Parts: sequence; structure tokens; C-alpha cells
Amino acid sequence: MADVPAECNIKVLCRFRPLNQSEIIRGDLFLPKFQGDDTVVVGGKSYAFDRVFPTNTTQEQVYNTCAKQIVKDVLGGYNGTIFAYGQTSSGKTHTMEGKLHDPHQMGIIPRIAEDIFNHIFAMDENLEFHIKVSYFEIYMDKIRDLLDVTKTNLSVHEDKNRVPFVKGCTERFVSSPDEVMDVIDEGKANRHVAVTNMNEHSSRSHSIFLINIKQEHVETEQKLSGKLYLVDLAGSEKVSKTGAAGAVLDEAKNINKSLSALGNVISALAEGTKSHVPYRDSKMTRILQDSLGGNCRTTMFICCSPSNYNEAETKSTLMFGQRAK
Ligand code: ADP
Ligand code: MG
Repeated sequence: MADVPAECNIKVLCRFRPLNQSEIIRGDLFLPKFQGDDTVVVGGKSYAFDRVFPTNTTQEQVYNTCAKQIVKDVLGGYNGTIFAYGQTSSGKTHTMEGKLHDPHQMGIIPRIAEDIFNHIFAMDENLEFHIKVSYFEIYMDKIRDLLDVTKTNLSVHEDKNRVPFVKGCTERFVSSPDEVMDVIDEGKANRHVAVTNMNEHSSRSHSIFLINIKQEHVETEQKLSGKLYLVDLAGSEKVSKTGAAGAVLDEAKNINKSLSALGNVISALAEGTKSHVPYRDSKMTRILQDSLGGNCRTTMFICCSPSNYNEAETKSTLMFGQRAK
């Protein structure tokens, strides 16, 4: 077993995307003022994080600053979770996935896939690795397997060590970065097939990619395992009270509930007291329970639009991130 760190390690990083073409044409103002490498000022108020990434930050810089170490830790037997939080179109998927097959534009998940295998090839030959991945989404509190479209309502169980898991969720063994990418492509294709408007759907569901690493020493039979959850959260935007009704309003309420459950768990952990951590308030926090608590590495990306048009949402996103500090 690896040493258990004394305190849960939560990092909160903030990333602003550039203004997009239609925002530029509309004449939107660029709001954020970056100060040093950890502070941003929006609307006269300053927000400090572990790190703030201005709009020109590359995918590689983001990866090296914050995800690289987590890969080492997971190979060292720790669990971890990386989230992307923010309103729709703020850069969550760009940060987590990016352009999957483009070496410059690929995001955290494909870089992690490469890095894991690079480490393994450099490690002790007497270590045997078993790496498996799962890919699922949570929509309206239902867990859908993205690697088996027949599984549309999976449930969360606990094993005999009280470790939570999604029962019946497909697990794929992978032995190269390309195999990981194939699984992601397959899951994304399945997700497209099941819905009519992919953009709307992805903004209303949480997608979760799980990498599970088990290693065993062939001579000593000593075992070590770690897992990493990579979570692209549903859009955090408030649905206007007047505009929404029926199904849209139900979706909005559901997302709001699950994001606030997550916020409550993260802030209880960040307080670092022995206070009650309300893991059981949502399916997502139940699943992530043993990857957000003691033996873990947690990183939250707070993704923001720079446009004055989104000022209210950006401020509320920044406030969410502050709760974790
Ligand atoms: P979200 O997943 O939060 O809804 P996306 O990641 O899909 O948002 O980003 C919306 C658009 O902005 C996409 O076209 C994406 O490529 C672009 N984008 C997001 N972040 C950046 C960035 N840091 N640099 C360049 N383009 C970005
Ligand atoms: Mg997205």
C-alpha cells in the first residue's frame, strides 16, 4: 500500500478561453485581467486560485502544470479525480479532451493515456500492469454506459471493502495509448447515436472516463492499484426562470442539484475538518467517494468565457471555484 497523505489534496485551476469569432464580430469586451500566475480580476473583484491560465495557454502547458503529476501519483497507488466545471462553451471539453487525434490540440485525457504507457515502459520489468477503462455518462440522475448502449440505467454499489463502483459498467482492458483512444472514439460515437442534438445533450450530462491501473510484482506478488476519474461536467449555466418549462426545466433543476452536491462535497473536503462530507447526496459524488477523500488527488478546472456578455455566469463560476479553496 502507498502512504496515505495526511490531508486531501485539492487543486483549483482556472482557465479562460479566447473570445470566439462571433463574440469578436458582435464587439464583445474582453473582461478578465490576469495578475501574476494565480489571480484574475473580473468586474473589479479579484479571484485567486492555485493557478490561472490566460487565454493563450497551450494544451501542453495545461497538462504539464497540473495533470502530469497526477499520472505519477496514480501509478504510485493513489486515486484521483480531474473535473472541468463551467458554463456551456467555456472550454470544458477542450480542456479534458481537446482534439483527440491532434498532437498539439489534444487535451488532458489523451495526454494522460500517452503518459501512462510511457511511464510503464520505463518501469521495472518485473511489474505486470493491468489497465482498464470505463466510459459512462450521468444524465437526469441515470447512469448510461457509453461502451454498451443497452445499459441505460446502471446503479452504484459498494464492494466488500465499501469501495463504490458502477455495477455492470463495461470495462475494457487497454495496452496502448491507441487502444485508449479507440475506446474514447467508440464511446463518443455511441453518445452521438443516442441523441438528436449532441451539443445540447453534452451540455446537460456529466461524462466520466475512468482509468483503473493495477500492478503486480511478478516475484514478490506485491500489488498496487490506483484509479483516475476524468469528469467533463454538465454546463453550469442558470436556466432563466421565465424561459424554461417542462423537460428543460427538469433537466436544469437536476443539473443544478448534482453540481451543488459536488460543490458541497469539495468545500467540506477543502475545509479539512472532520466535518461530515455529504457524498451520498448525488450519484456522482457517491461514485467518486474514494477518489475525492483521503487517498486522493483532486484537481478542478474552472473554465470561463472572457466575454462581457457572459459576465454574470463567469462570476458565478469563479465563486464556485472559490468555495473549494
Ligand atoms: P464546453 O465543453 O465547456 O461546452 P468547449 O470545450 O466545447 O466548451 O469549447 C467551446 C468552443 O471553444 C470549442 O469550439 C473549443 O474548441 C473552443 N475553445 C475552448 N477553449 C479554448 C481555448 N483555450 N483555446 C482555443 N479554443 C478554445
Ligand atoms: Mg463540452
